[in-house]
Amino acid sequence: MEPAEGGPKAAPANQKRGRRTQQAAFGKPPRQAAVAAPLTIRVLALKPRLSLRRAPNVTDSPGMQSQRFDFIVVGSGAGGLSAALHAARHGSVAVVTKRGALDSNSNWAQGGIACVTSDEDSIEKHVQDTLIASAGLCNEAAVRTIITEGPARIAELVNWGVDFDQRESQDGHLEFDLTKEGGHSKRRVLHAADATGREISEKLLAAVRAEPAITVLENHFAIDLITTAKLGFVSEDRVLGLYALREEDQTVLTLHADRVILATGGCGRVYLYTTNPRVATGDGVAMAWRAGASVANMEFIQFHPTCLYHSARRSFLITEAMRGEGARLIDKHGNEFMPKYDPRGSLAPRDIVARAIDHEIKRTGGPCVYLDISHQPADFVISHFPTIHKNLLEVGIDITKDPIPVVPAAHYQCGGVVTDLNGATRIRGLCAVGEVACTGLHGANRLASNSLLECVVLSHRAVHHLLRKLPVGRETTPVEVPAWQSGDAVDNDELVVIYHNWDEIRRLMWDYVSIVRTTKRLQRAAARLRNLKREVQEFYWNFRITSELLELRNLVETASLIVECAIRRHESRGLHYTLDYPAPDDTRPPQDQVVRRY
Ligand SMILES: Cc1cc2nc3c(=O)[nH]c(=O)nc-3n(C[C@H](O)[C@H](O)[C@H](O)COP(=O)(O)OP(=O)(O)OC[C@H]3O[C@@H](n4cnc5c(N)ncnc54)[C@H](O)[C@@H]3O)c2cc1C
Repeated sequence: MEPAEGGPKAAPANQKRGRRTQQAAFGKPPRQAAVAAPLTIRVLALKPRLSLRRAPNVTDSPGMQSQRFDFIVVGSGAGGLSAALHAARHGSVAVVTKRGALDSNSNWAQGGIACVTSDEDSIEKHVQDTLIASAGLCNEAAVRTIITEGPARIAELVNWGVDFDQRESQDGHLEFDLTKEGGHSKRRVLHAADATGREISEKLLAAVRAEPAITVLENHFAIDLITTAKLGFVSEDRVLGLYALREEDQTVLTLHADRVILATGGCGRVYLYTTNPRVATGDGVAMAWRAGASVANMEFIQFHPTCLYHSARRSFLITEAMRGEGARLIDKHGNEFMPKYDPRGSLAPRDIVARAIDHEIKRTGGPCVYLDISHQPADFVISHFPTIHKNLLEVGIDITKDPIPVVPAAHYQCGGVVTDLNGATRIRGLCAVGEVACTGLHGANRLASNSLLECVVLSHRAVHHLLRKLPVGRETTPVEVPAWQSGDAVDNDELVVIYHNWDEIRRLMWDYVSIVRTTKRLQRAAARLRNLKREVQEFYWNFRITSELLELRNLVETASLIVECAIRRHESRGLHYTLDYPAPDDTRPPQDQVVRRY
């Protein structure tokens, strides 16, 4: 693959003036960087070993432009907040998050978190359901580990105050009120009505705010990771921290830590239609890629079958749990169509349902299909889906009486930064957890509600892995990190171009790289993305950075990785469906598509 950014040779002369030091620090291949900027890099290996452990928020220089922590966690979703809580037991933690702390996919999760908590269920059944959903591509060890460790992490969530719905059992005890979602053979999804993510996020955030060792840096945009390789060292690559843009005064901070956990979530915003909030722009994948981490299986984007189709409310998801509670998918004439496509009907896995809806929409020429739960008693519907009921009433749809217009929309990134079972990447000290990571749990398709489970299990494992590798107090050899310099970059007076490029990427991804693909369309997308990348790179060199520009830079990178992985996969498997190779390649064992910048 072509490098994410050009080195000096690739950049026009005027670009070289703009951000020279910034580029030397992390823009170009490591060895060139060492040659180009020798004066900014100094190894302190021969100096006496320094203890770098400090209290949070201690500054190294005036204006708080440089800070050191034992751990940096990027992202404040379920993965990031739970990682911060584990880490805070051992040292100082910065949670760097680009908007408000509750701006995350986690906060929007509706259905729940899958975990074996009932005697009628078993770890083996959950494992088997996950393996079936993954279309043969998941890492069974990851599946078993995450599912087996789930109950302990659920108990921890409850200790942190998460209030999952309960009901009285037949013998009068309180037990979790479990629901069932597509692809699950048992009721095993714990939930808090239809706003489970909000309940988890708010309770985790309250626990984080009460923890003195944690500093939450809201409205701080992580720009790029700082690693020894990026600074030009040829020894083992390790993470040194990151640069972050503080929105308040547009200052770039240098945050130092030997242990960094990326929990930046997914990339739904790469697509025109998505269930994801504004923050889901693939930043973590792009950052890790630029730092030289491996990225895999980005072609497997899960399209949620049922996103509300309404001009007044975009990106509003209608939870899978509604189909679990009996809702049926019908066409505009009221006919249920799913049994034509799969014997499991409306409870078939998401990819099958999404493709069926896509097919029905194309077949009937209508803009959407409908999800109907109006045959259930109104009080049942309202008590199970209060948020959806309220939100849809606001746009004139009463779900106790009316079918809901729905379309598929990009929902979940199954691939991501390659990690082992501890969330560890190939860069020492750098872990990735949650949706940004590719642990092997989801393979080619995610089983509903397994993702929140993965967040909480992996965050726990990642913190303990980092501590095993480098206990707090035994820090690594210090390396002087150059401060960010903007050079003579100027303010961008052409914001419209950035918005135009955003729209173009999202539309071309929707048109060429969504539910049904072809090689020709993928190649067209790749060619256009190459040009867009060049343009965005020019902005990046010439203009002072803003969060919009940084998101655009990450968006185009992530979109390119999705297309690259999709072009390489010469088969249809799980969520990747191409008319040119409509069946899985059974001539060899299923392969991950792993790509790396260097
Ligand atoms: C509408 C909806 C419903 C869902 N329902 C369910 C469900 O019922 N069950 C389930 O298991 N899963 C569900 N999912 C998926 C699940 O919510 C996510 O996979 C999971 O929450 C991801 O958690 P995370 O911590 O990895 O990332 P997120 O929760 O997305 O958090 C990412 C964080 O990183 C921050 N961030 C990103 N980039 C940067 C940057 N450059 N600098 C600083 N901060 C950054 C973001 O602001 C955010 O705080 C749903 C998703 C959506 C969108």
